[in-house]
This record gives sequence, C-alpha cells and structure tokens, in this order.
Amino acid sequence: MTKKVAILGSTGSIGRNALEVIGALAPAFEVVAMTAHSKVDLFCQQVRAVRPKYAAMTDSVAAQSCRKRLQGTGVEVLSGPNRLVEIASLDEVDIVLCAVVGAAGLPAALAVAKAGKTVAIANKEPLVIAGELLTEAARRSGATILPVDSEHSAVFQAMQAGSAAEVEKVILTASGGPFRKTDTAHMQRATVEQALNHPTWTMGPKITIDSASMMNKALEVIEAVWLFRLSVDQIDVLIHPESVVHSMVEFVDGSVIAQLGTPDMRLPIQYALTYPRRVAGVADRLRLDRLGKLTFEPPDLKKFRALALGFEVARRGGSAPVVFNAANEAAVEAFLAGRIPFGAIVELIEHCLDVHNERTHLSLDDLLAIDDWSRQEVARRLADAPQTVAQK
Ligand code: NDP
Ligand code: MG
Repeated sequence: MTKKVAILGSTGSIGRNALEVIGALAPAFEVVAMTAHSKVDLFCQQVRAVRPKYAAMTDSVAAQSCRKRLQGTGVEVLSGPNRLVEIASLDEVDIVLCAVVGAAGLPAALAVAKAGKTVAIANKEPLVIAGELLTEAARRSGATILPVDSEHSAVFQAMQAGSAAEVEKVILTASGGPFRKTDTAHMQRATVEQALNHPTWTMGPKITIDSASMMNKALEVIEAVWLFRLSVDQIDVLIHPESVVHSMVEFVDGSVIAQLGTPDMRLPIQYALTYPRRVAGVADRLRLDRLGKLTFEPPDLKKFRALALGFEVARRGGSAPVVFNAANEAAVEAFLAGRIPFGAIVELIEHCLDVHNERTHLSLDDLLAIDDWSRQEVARRLADAPQTVAQK
C-alpha cells in the first residue's frame, strides 16, 4: 500500500532532498501535503511537479502570492502558521517529515506525536527544547519518532545490534566544520561567507552556522538524550573530518558498531521513510578505496565553547536547553544579517543562560514563553551594548 507523506519545510535543504528520495520511491510513497514559509517561486514549482492534495505557506503574504500563481492547477494553498499543525494531524497522512528549521517546528512536531503517526524528525530544535513533551506524547499515542539527522540515524541503525540495556555509550561524530584548524581569534572574526563554507555537508544556512560554532553538535547531544533515553555521561563527541562514519554505539562487551556512508542526507531521509526495510535508492555510494583513510581527533572544548555549554545545558535540563536554543537562533539570525561578529554568537548564548532564572516541569506554553524571553534578551543585549557585542 502507498505510504502517504507530509513534508513540513519542502523548500529547505532536507525538504528538497526528501522530494528527490520520494520521487525515486514512487509509487510506494506519495507526497500528499507539503508546506513552506517564504520561498514562493520554489514552492510553486514544487507544487506543480508534485500536485499534493494540501499545500500551505506559513507566511501569509507569500501564501497569497503563491495562491495567485497556482490558480487553475486545482491545488488550494492554505495560509498561516497554524496550518502546519492541521497538516501534521491529517488522518490520511501516515508519515510526517518534520524539516522546518528552528523552534518554529515545535507545535507541528508535537501534533504529529499526539496523532500517533510516524514522525521522521530532521528538525532537531523541538527535541532539544521539548524532548520530554514530545517523547511522552509519542509514548501515549503510540507514535514512532524516527531520526533523520545523520548521526542519530547512524546511532539508531547501530543500536539494532544489541538491546538498549547493552548500550554503554554513543559516540557522535562531527566534521569539525570550517574552523577546525582556524585559531580562536580568527574564528571569532570570521565572515558570514567563511562560516557558511562547510567542508563536507551542504545544508540550510542556520545549521551550517551551527556547524561552524559546533552548536550543532551541542544540540545533537541533547537530541540524542531524548531520542535514545541516554544519560549525558553516555554521550561522547569525536571529530571526524571526512564525515563518513556517521556515528557509533559502544556496547557493554566493548564492541563498537558504526554506520558509514557518504555525506548525503538522502540516505538517512530514505531510511526513516522505509524503516524497518531497506530499498535501493538515490544516495551516493561510499568508495572507501578512493578515500584511503579515515581520521579522528578529540574536540577542542575551549575553542568551541558552544559544545562545552551544550553538555552543561544537557545536564541542567528544564528551561536551560530552551534558553540555549532560542538565544542561538536569535544570535545566528543577527550574525547572518551582518549585525554581530561570529564570536558574539556564543557570548550572547552565555549571557542569556547567566541572567535566566532556571525552571523545571514546563508546559508547552511555558516553553514558548521562555523561548520568547530568550530571543528578546538577545535583542535587548544588542540594543543596550552593541559595541561590547560587536567587538567580541
Ligand atoms: P532550510 O533553512 O534549508 O529549510 C528550512 C525549511 O523550513 C524551509 O522549507 C523553510 O521555508 C521552512 N521555514 C523556515 N522558517 C519557518 C517558519 N517560521 N515556519 C514554518 N516553516 C519555516 O533548513 P534545513 O533543511 O537545512 O534544516 C531543516 C531542519 O533539519 C533543521 O532543524 C536542521 O537542524 C535539521 N537538519 C538539517 C540537515 C541538513 O542537511 N540540511 C541535517 C540534519 C538536520 P522557506 O524556505 O520557504 O522560507
Ligand atoms: Mg547532524
């Protein structure tokens, strides 16, 4: 029977890769709903090609323009952020691919988890800020949360070699990003262009900046805690510049099981869709004979302060990961807009964590309020002390 998929964030890097994967898997899989935020041209093009039953743009101005452009195609374009939740909860959808960027994807991810569907989750920020709510909602409804993030897909695959109780630790690999060999002073003054120049992966701008600061790995540590029910002490990070070993699981007997592949997101996307089966697909094949060698080194936690903070925040739990994530989203936006230097991103995150009063046992409304507070604190800091931040 055809599996019906909804893609939240079809115009993004993950969304575009997913359309390619699903196109190659037809007729076993079919996209019945897709959403985008602002990219009208690309979204109209995708909708014309895919002809989904439901299409939605969360930005209402973009939706209006898209609606005009798609007149006569028979596809109705829905509008506004609430449409994500509606699409995520549609009865006729089997699998929802959450590929929106940032905390904006949280309400929809929660809706899919509550609806008891399969959640293929690329969008890591909701797991970071609301891991407990999401996993608890999935447990109650019987929903399955499947990782799309390459490291977590690798861990998920490696974990099938033993039982959960036999897992000793998880080793998340990281490319080290564009500044692996750059000294701290130069890294702090890096330009947007330099920070966007990722050595191995092609991804959307926000996660690419997060990879440069290693905030991405920090978020992934917290993501792993929730996806696999691990304690923070069970998670190690290892720099692996070739991005071929996507992560590893060490079992109690000392065996280390790894998953390898080229740095190509089409593979983990496909695995989340076809799980528990494997089928031929479009992802590039690994040629280890051409690569010759694979290298590993420990991460520099003094230089990449965001990663050190990530471990700390993961241990603290409660509101700390919410503040950590939202401050980063606001700071990355300011960096991409040319308002702050690269080094100020982590400084702003540290500032928000310092002035925040920590809380535990948070409802969705509490989480959203703390997320909002953190973004505003970044804005206040930038307005009050622009010089200090700019010189960092
Ligand atoms: P992109 O920036 O490329 O795409 C983001 C998608 O989300 C776009 O479709 C965008 O629409 C939509 N979007 C943006 N803002 C909003 C909003 N406020 N409300 C609803 N939709 C919105 O991101 P990526 O594809 O790179 O990443 C998506 C998620 O997957 C992130 O959480 C990232 O961490 C994770 N991920 C990504 C990987 C990658 O290889 N790219 C690897 C592992 C994880 P539009 O473009 O129309 O504005
Ligand atoms: Mg990843």
